Amino acid sequence: MGFWWRPLSVLASVMLVALMLWAASGWVAALGFLAGIQAFVMLRRLWQEFRLSRWLENPDEVDPPDATGTWGDIFYRLQKLQRRQRASRSELTNALEQFEHAAQAVPDAMVILNSSEQIIWCNPASRTYMGLDSERDRGQFIRYLMRQAHFLEFLDAVDYSRRLVCKSPVNREVILSLQLVPFGESQKLLVARDITELERVDAMRRDFIANVSHELRTPLTVVGGFVETLADAPELPASESRRYFDLMLDHTRRMQRLLDDLLTLSRLESADHSLKEEDVNVPELARALGAEAESLSRGKHQVSVDIESQTWIKGNLQDIRSALGNLVSNAVRYTPDGGTITLAWRERDGEGVFAVTDTGEGIAAEHIPRLTERFYRVDRSRSRETGGTGLGLAIVKHVLTRHGARLDIQSIPGKGSTFAAIFPSQRLIAAPPSATVIPFPASEQAVG
Ligand code: ADP
Repeated sequence: MGFWWRPLSVLASVMLVALMLWAASGWVAALGFLAGIQAFVMLRRLWQEFRLSRWLENPDEVDPPDATGTWGDIFYRLQKLQRRQRASRSELTNALEQFEHAAQAVPDAMVILNSSEQIIWCNPASRTYMGLDSERDRGQFIRYLMRQAHFLEFLDAVDYSRRLVCKSPVNREVILSLQLVPFGESQKLLVARDITELERVDAMRRDFIANVSHELRTPLTVVGGFVETLADAPELPASESRRYFDLMLDHTRRMQRLLDDLLTLSRLESADHSLKEEDVNVPELARALGAEAESLSRGKHQVSVDIESQTWIKGNLQDIRSALGNLVSNAVRYTPDGGTITLAWRERDGEGVFAVTDTGEGIAAEHIPRLTERFYRVDRSRSRETGGTGLGLAIVKHVLTRHGARLDIQSIPGKGSTFAAIFPSQRLIAAPPSATVIPFPASEQAVG
C-alpha cells in the first residue's frame, strides 16, 4: 500500500484540477492541462530511465541516481540490492582466497578431476610430486599425463578406501601414497601424500628386527645344541663337558653384550633421556682409556697416550666414556698383534679432538659412510670373533650427536685408521686450577 498511496493521490489531485478547469474554462483547457501533465510525466520518466540505464551499465563507477517519489523508491531498493550483492561478493571472494591460500599451504598434492577424469584444478604441491601444472594441464585427461599401469588400474578401481603406494613420477626417491576421495556431484579429489620418511622408518624397523633375530639365532642355537648334547649324554668326560660349558658361556656372554648395547641405544634414543651434564676431565679419561687399551691388548700392541691439551669438556661422563671406550676397543680388536694404538687429546681450530689412531687393517673408502649404521660390519666373522655386536659405532654416533659433536673417520686399507670425536668449542671448558695431573701410564683409577 506504501507504494500506491503517493502516485494515486497525485493522480487524484491532477484529475480534480482538470475537472475544476473543465467547469471554469471548458473542456479544451482541461484537456490541455491533462496533455501538459502527461508530457511532463513522460519526459520525467524518460530522464529517470536514462539515469537508471546509465547507472546499471556501470553500477560500481557511476553514482546511483537519486530522486523523489516512486522513482526514488525504486532507486533506493536497487541500491540496497546492489549493496547486498557487493557484500556477498566480497565474502565469496574472501572465502575463495582463503581456500586458495589453504590449498597452497597444504603439503599434500591435491587434484580435482571431473567425471571424465579431466583436471579441473590442482594445487602447487601437485607440481612437486606429480609434475602437474595448474595452468598448463587444466582440462587435460589425467590418464594421458600419468600413464603408469598401476596408477591406471587404481583409477579404474574407483575404490575410495584403497591407497596406492608408488614412486613419484617426478622424483623416484620420493614415495607417495595416493587416495581418491568422492567430491561434489560426480567429481573426484586425488590426494597424494609424501610418505618417504614413514617408509624409510618402516624399512629400518623391519631391518632392525631381522638383524636382532639373526644376531640372537646363532648363539641361541649353539647353546640349545650343547644343552641337548649334555642332557642326552650325562656321562661325558669332564674335559669334554668343560669345553661345552665354556662355549656356552661364550655365546651367553655374546647375547648379554648384544642386549646391553641394544639397551644403551634405546636409552640414548628415548626422548626423556635428558643429558645430565658435568665437567669431564678428558686428559684423565684419556689416560684411563689408555690403561684400558693396554689391559684389552694384553701386551700385544704398543699403546701410547698423547695429551696436548689440558682442556675439559661439558657433557655426560658415562656416555662419553662409553663412546670413546668403544673407539679404543675397536682399535685393539682390529689391529693385528704388534701394531700401535695412539690416543690423543688436542685442540684444533677451537674444537676439541679426541683421536684414536691404529696401525690396523684399515677400511676401504666405500664402507666408511656406513660404519655407524646398526649392525654394519666390514668383516662379519672378524667382528664376531673379537666379540663385536655391530652396534659400537652406532652408539658412538648417538652419544656424539647428543653432545653436538661429530665422528671423523680417516682410514687407509692395510695401513690403519683414525677415529676422531670432535667436540665443538661451546663444549670446551678450562680445567679447574685444582685438577690433579696423573702421569701416564695410569693404573685402573677412578675417572672424572
Ligand atoms: P663391531 O662390534 O662389529 O666392532 P662397530 O659398530 O664398533 O661394530 O664397528 C663397525 C665395523 O666398523 C666393524 O665391524 C669393523 O668392520 C669396522 N671398524 C670399526 N673400527 C675399526 C678399526 N679401528 N679398524 C678397522 N675397522 C674398524
